[in-house]
Amino acid sequence: MKIVVVGGVAGGMSTAARLRRLNEDAEIIVLEAGPEVSFANCGLPYYVSGEITDQAALLVQTPKSLKESLNLDARINTTVLSLDPAAKKVTAEGPQGEYELEYDELVLSPGADAFRPAIEGIDSKRVSTLRTVADALTIDEMAKTATSAAVIGAGFIGLEAAEALRMRGLETTVVEFADHVLPPLDEETAYYVTDELRRLGIDVRTSTSVVEIEQGDDADTAVLSDGSRLEADIIVLSAGVRPRTARWEKAGVEVERGAIVVDEFGRTNVDNVWAMGDAATSVDLVTGIRRPVALAGPANRAGRLVADAISGNMSHAVPKTIGTSIVRVGELTAAMTGANQRTLESEGIAHHTISLHPLNHAGYFPGASMIHLRVHFGEDRKVLGAQAAGKGGVDKRIDVLATAIKAGMTVDDLIDLDLAYSPPYGSAKDPVNMAGMMAANVLDGTMPIWHTKDLDKMREERLILDVRSAGEYARGHVPGALNIPHTQLRDRLDEVREAADGRAIAVHCMSGMRSYLAHRQLAQAGFDSANHTGGLMTMVAELGDRAREVIVQ
Ligand SMILES: Cc1cc2nc3c(=O)[nH]c(=O)nc-3n(C[C@H](O)[C@H](O)[C@H](O)COP(=O)(O)OP(=O)(O)OC[C@H]3O[C@@H](n4cnc5c(N)ncnc54)[C@H](O)[C@@H]3O)c2cc1C
Repeated sequence: MKIVVVGGVAGGMSTAARLRRLNEDAEIIVLEAGPEVSFANCGLPYYVSGEITDQAALLVQTPKSLKESLNLDARINTTVLSLDPAAKKVTAEGPQGEYELEYDELVLSPGADAFRPAIEGIDSKRVSTLRTVADALTIDEMAKTATSAAVIGAGFIGLEAAEALRMRGLETTVVEFADHVLPPLDEETAYYVTDELRRLGIDVRTSTSVVEIEQGDDADTAVLSDGSRLEADIIVLSAGVRPRTARWEKAGVEVERGAIVVDEFGRTNVDNVWAMGDAATSVDLVTGIRRPVALAGPANRAGRLVADAISGNMSHAVPKTIGTSIVRVGELTAAMTGANQRTLESEGIAHHTISLHPLNHAGYFPGASMIHLRVHFGEDRKVLGAQAAGKGGVDKRIDVLATAIKAGMTVDDLIDLDLAYSPPYGSAKDPVNMAGMMAANVLDGTMPIWHTKDLDKMREERLILDVRSAGEYARGHVPGALNIPHTQLRDRLDEVREAADGRAIAVHCMSGMRSYLAHRQLAQAGFDSANHTGGLMTMVAELGDRAREVIVQ
């Protein structure tokens, strides 16, 4: 059997390596347009930051090592120009010129191109993407003499680039078209990231785009949509990716939403042609939407399974994806899994959302820090999505919640999870257990909740009861809120009754914890009450800079 693999990095190389492990006799040829195979694209930002100092560490394999260990014929600097499915051959162009190559099976893992917006000046030599080792070396070289940088796009890679350049001491600005950084995150979680970016000294411009790049002698100037101008010695372009599909579409391979359509085994509509990774579609486990997911994990795992399928083992389909992703920004980690709020709303999926701010480990053990956690769940009690930001323990909680979503678990299952605990690592009720308990309380009516977006309605229709201390209240509160600390509430219920004058109560505190205790007292005393999920902390995060208008002293 002769197998030709197009693209020698994440998906392509995983397929080729697994194929060899399954079949010693197959002829396996990997064609890679770039000068490296199997390089650590995810490590590139950390080469720019200076944390990875050895360039060789970015090269996980070479054609020589692949020949020696797996007997793969990996051909670098070789671009596949066209596909002729009827003749089962591709035309490639490499160091030895143009040639045709027949195949029995063809695997496409060509990845994605950086999106280049049609901006005047984008071809400046100071503008670079961050997708290849060469890009990382270019940025590293420029950074040696640069004093300022602009990053276009505040997605995961854009923020990694911004963090890296800031670590190198450059004045760094991030320009993002969407209204918050890391657009896949909900507003609340993104707020903590913006906060950390600002703490690092990175200038964050959201709801803003670069409309022109003026090329200067000493530096370029990015002209922004709000009319402001940014001088930058380096401009990193990280405005998203577009799957590489044109060549394959021309040959009859079906493309949808800009990506190659594959079935659950990675088969395209063309016989003996398979695809995966950034260039191919995958089905979202939560929403059922078919779209490309540009993440290394799904590409690597799909590569292995496509190799199994090519080898005749169709017992394990390529799984649906949930887009679990994570990023480090300074001292903060932000991560998400499953559906976000915007997707749940646009897909009309009925859901509840809770926000909580537990500590990453026992509060009495030194070094505890808060995890800002949001969990979305359905009326059927299933976990639909989760996001978190914090200094410690975020990766563990999001990975547990990703496992829960994959397993189709309910919020009740989260309560039951038997997670590792000792004081330096967690709490006897882990944040994930706590999220399950809160969600179950919402679903069974023990704790009806309200959200920041309901604030105007709450102020119109209910008495806002702030159960923080008098000092906290004095430092900032929602106008008109009655302040009774939760510890005094039992003795002051008459005051609540009088102020409410027949209205229901919207109770809140800093994090939603003390107000939960207050809510339970109120409910058992006969009040119609609801608790503000996540409390004022979530309100500040959701309102961002607008919080100053809503919370007064
Ligand atoms: C800077 C950076 C950081 C990242 N960090 C993370 C991270 O932390 N976590 C994460 O999950 N994901 C991360 N990703 C995304 C992840 O790297 C990709 O999702 C993954 O590599 C996709 O695998 P793939 O096989 O589809 O494409 P790639 O790994 O991009 O490989 C495609 C290869 O195909 C080659 N090719 C294309 N067309 C042809 C052709 N016609 N002929 C021959 N060869 C061709 C290309 O040269 C390319 O090398 C990061 C990506 C970048 C760029």
